[in-house]
Amino acid sequence: MRKAAVIGAGFAGLAAAYFLSEKYHVTLIDQKGIGAGASGISSGLFHPYPGEKGRLSWEAEEALKWTKKLIDEAEKALGKPVADRRGILRMGPILHPGPDVIQLEKEKFLITSGMTVFPSLYLQGLWLACQKKGVVLHIEKIETLATLQGYDLTLLALGAGIRFFKEREKLKINFVKGQVLTCRLEKPLEKSTSSKVYTALTEQPLTCHVGATYERERIDDIPDPAKAIELLKPHFPLLDCHAGIRVTNPAHYFPILQQIGPTHYVITALGSRGLLYHALLGSRTARLDKML
Ligand SMILES: Cc1cc2nc3c(=O)[nH]c(=O)nc-3n(C[C@H](O)[C@H](O)[C@H](O)COP(=O)(O)OP(=O)(O)OC[C@H]3O[C@@H](n4cnc5c(N)ncnc54)[C@H](O)[C@@H]3O)c2cc1C
Repeated sequence: MRKAAVIGAGFAGLAAAYFLSEKYHVTLIDQKGIGAGASGISSGLFHPYPGEKGRLSWEAEEALKWTKKLIDEAEKALGKPVADRRGILRMGPILHPGPDVIQLEKEKFLITSGMTVFPSLYLQGLWLACQKKGVVLHIEKIETLATLQGYDLTLLALGAGIRFFKEREKLKINFVKGQVLTCRLEKPLEKSTSSKVYTALTEQPLTCHVGATYERERIDDIPDPAKAIELLKPHFPLLDCHAGIRVTNPAHYFPILQQIGPTHYVITALGSRGLLYHALLGSRTARLDKML
């Protein structure tokens, strides 16, 4: 069987490893382990109407289908739910509401196709599903593509780690810092709410995540709770603060699956739509060998 290396064990790398394992013996390589990057701290909001205008995302229907498939696979492997399926409340406009949107009031919608994914459970389940398909994990920090010898296909899914690779010059990408606060609740929230500042359910009924996309000029992933509180003004007592870096495509919100060498590819620019796009791009990696 041919051999593939997937570097980066976040949403993108795990999805790619899952689909590539149909045709390759896949080695997943990460400097720290499963979910060590932005995926591990993401708030889990998964729906097709993000952004200030609530515009329907590119290839939304297809993307929803692939992510839901992987959520099902993760749940099957883990034996318990990894997401809340009660929909997501949108407080703000939705430009062209589809049949999956119910208007409740002016600028208040229920996105019925939306889910809140619990990232640590989803990552665990997806990794188990990958292992069942023969994927093996290797802990190593990769410094250059030249060190990856003996693979028929190499896929970089490094999240913000791509900024340290010279191949980054071939990509039109930006880096945006994001912080998320974990807060304590007195009673469980009914649903996650998406707006300029969002509130997301977690797998713990009496905690929630509060976050937003901001700090565009900064690209470190060091939590700064004072700054996060100033910007997010949470209504709930604070338990914890995490920071991460989103990789975005400055021209538009499309994610990128691009060839960067003879047998080398990259998945990047999932932006704040990591859950919407990781499985769609992952599914497309299974067709890359047609390009080799
Ligand atoms: C605060 C915050 C909240 C978010 N909330 C949401 C949300 O609610 N919904 C949503 O859809 N998206 C959300 N996102 C965006 C989402 O998290 C990202 O789009 C997604 O996680 C990107 O996945 P990835 O696999 O590309 O990268 P990552 O998850 O960052 O994975 C990259 C992996 O590569 C590894 N790596 C990096 N460099 C190297 C190297 N040199 N050698 C070996 N391994 C390496 C890292 O250890 C890491 O495990 C949020 C992002 C942030 C920062």
